[in-house]
Amino acid sequence: MQTARFFTITFAGCPVRGNVLRLNVDLCAIFCFDSLEPGTVQWDCKLESSEIQGEQVLLRFAGEKTAVADIVIGSDGANSRLRELVTPVQPQYVGVSLVEGLVPAAKQTIPELWDLLAGSALIALGSERTIGIGTKPDGSVLLYAGLKTEDRVVRQSLEEAVEPDQRVGWFHANFKGWSDLWEPLFREAISMVWRPLLVVPMDQPWKSKPNVTLIGDAAHVMPPYAGEGVNMAMLDALVLSRLLLSEESASKAIAAYEAEMFARMRRMTADTMVNTEMFYAPDACERVVALFRSFGGNEAVLPASEA
Ligand SMILES: Cc1cc2nc3c(=O)[nH]c(=O)nc-3n(C[C@H](O)[C@H](O)[C@H](O)COP(=O)(O)OP(=O)(O)OC[C@H]3O[C@@H](n4cnc5c(N)ncnc54)[C@H](O)[C@@H]3O)c2cc1C
Repeated sequence: MQTARFFTITFAGCPVRGNVLRLNVDLCAIFCFDSLEPGTVQWDCKLESSEIQGEQVLLRFAGEKTAVADIVIGSDGANSRLRELVTPVQPQYVGVSLVEGLVPAAKQTIPELWDLLAGSALIALGSERTIGIGTKPDGSVLLYAGLKTEDRVVRQSLEEAVEPDQRVGWFHANFKGWSDLWEPLFREAISMVWRPLLVVPMDQPWKSKPNVTLIGDAAHVMPPYAGEGVNMAMLDALVLSRLLLSEESASKAIAAYEAEMFARMRRMTADTMVNTEMFYAPDACERVVALFRSFGGNEAVLPASEA
């Protein structure tokens, strides 16, 4: 079972191995699903709209399926359909967008970068741009190329660049001065999707509803530069579930959860925005490497199974 991956920062062509990023998807699946009654999870239910009806909530799904619930916990991510039930405040664009791409059979298609990756992940920084790549268990490589931009033309030109040569052209036009080393990513990726990074302003808490709340990105999406999105989503679930078991009513549990969540997320979102500025600053390399070094030691930490 895969238990760990190395996180690598590269700058000036020199890889610096840093923190261990712990991943354990198999364990998560066992933990989540094997402990539930069969049928608890219903797949293929795309929520289209919802409505508070007194003490209950009506959920309408694609295909005219509906459900009535006593308590609804929205965990439907950054573009949550349930968010409008609790607040009119919408996530805001932070001024940075990612281009997400997938390169299949990367050992064959991008051998030089594959060797540099060494089964791990890396991020390169400079001139208000980032390129992050990571290996996936199926031998593909996931690309996130990030750039600071408010310009719709940049997005449009990426979406119009469908041929490999056009994508390579887009890369050189928008990552001026970057090494040709990265070019194969744009040539070999089978798809490229524009993902604007969003943040929920956490200084605008909503008034608790008795029977609806949000967890995870639905409540507090933020850019990925503190690496805390999943941690926060899981902590939300833990805090809320404990309160639902201990408080005398769902409405008290939801109010207590939201008070804790907003206090915690105000700090976490502020830290994340500081990191986001750092990753896209003119001196990003020096600052990000210093940040990672401050975590203690530069030596790679082997997974327990390989130590
Ligand atoms: C490039 C990138 C790198 C990141 N790196 C890290 C990292 O290193 N560490 C970290 O902790 N976090 C990281 N994050 C953030 C992390 O991915 C999110 O914070 C986390 O996935 C949020 O979990 P979630 O369950 O709240 O939302 P999601 O993971 O977005 O899950 C939402 C779910 O809801 C479903 N859904 C959406 N709409 C509907 C609908 N209408 N009806 C039914 N279902 C719906 C979706 O299909 C999805 O399954 C990163 C994010 C990005 C973009």
